[in-house]
Amino acid sequence: MQRYFVEPMHMREQEVTITGDDVNHIVRVMRSRIGDEVICCNGQGRDVRGTIEAIEPDAVHIRILEEGLKNRELPVQVTIAQGLPKGDKMEWVIQKGTELGAFSFCAFTSSRTVVKLDTKKEAKRLERWQKIAKEAAEQSHRSVVPHIGNVQSWRELLASASGFHYAVLAYEKEESATFGRVLADMPPGSKLLVVIGPEGGFDEKEVAEAEAAGFAAVSLGKRILRAETAPLYALSCVSYRFEQ
Ligand code: SAH
Repeated sequence: MQRYFVEPMHMREQEVTITGDDVNHIVRVMRSRIGDEVICCNGQGRDVRGTIEAIEPDAVHIRILEEGLKNRELPVQVTIAQGLPKGDKMEWVIQKGTELGAFSFCAFTSSRTVVKLDTKKEAKRLERWQKIAKEAAEQSHRSVVPHIGNVQSWRELLASASGFHYAVLAYEKEESATFGRVLADMPPGSKLLVVIGPEGGFDEKEVAEAEAAGFAAVSLGKRILRAETAPLYALSCVSYRFEQ
């Protein structure tokens, strides 16, 4: 059944109003009619099944039939901080990372970032990334649309560690500490920040700064992964640890 994320205020006690691009999707793409059923999510964990009661040019009205649909969220909230990658790789990371259950994403710049930040285009790009997250969340039957944060500087990223129970920096030269070991001791309900470097990785000074800021440098296995593969590996590890 098709699912749509709506603003929390559009999900009332017994009805939901769907607006925006989703109206077009319901009417023209899905060719839905009155009486058809859809799933609506408020993005905060309330997922309901409902039936289409009325279709207007800019709104579809849904009557709620069933509350409390299955929760598919990972038991830990994983934020992926990704060294701003080249081309459309961030889009790939957001789409696949959402399928794998990430709670939020942000990109950051560091000494080996090669992409030039275009601040003028930034708002548009964030909007596009947020849209990709929403569509991927619908496709994977998530109850939460991952939040896409602003692009951060290296300093801002380091300072953000205090908002998490666990903060790790994926570092391919780390030989003893593994991500698996960190996960083994992690209770459900934790907030975890995973930092992945850009294509050129981190320099040693950055690794030392991150450790001083409270990050644990960890290995993601013996092979060198591409920057866009590493977050997907990390998210798969979390699913394996808590869900398998
Ligand atoms: N320095 C490298 C590799 C960069 S890979 C080079 O020679 O180009 C890009 C990022 O992916 C790294 O900064 C790291 O965060 C992550 N990564 C890739 N493979 C990893 C591994 N085996 N363990 C931990 N992190 C890894």
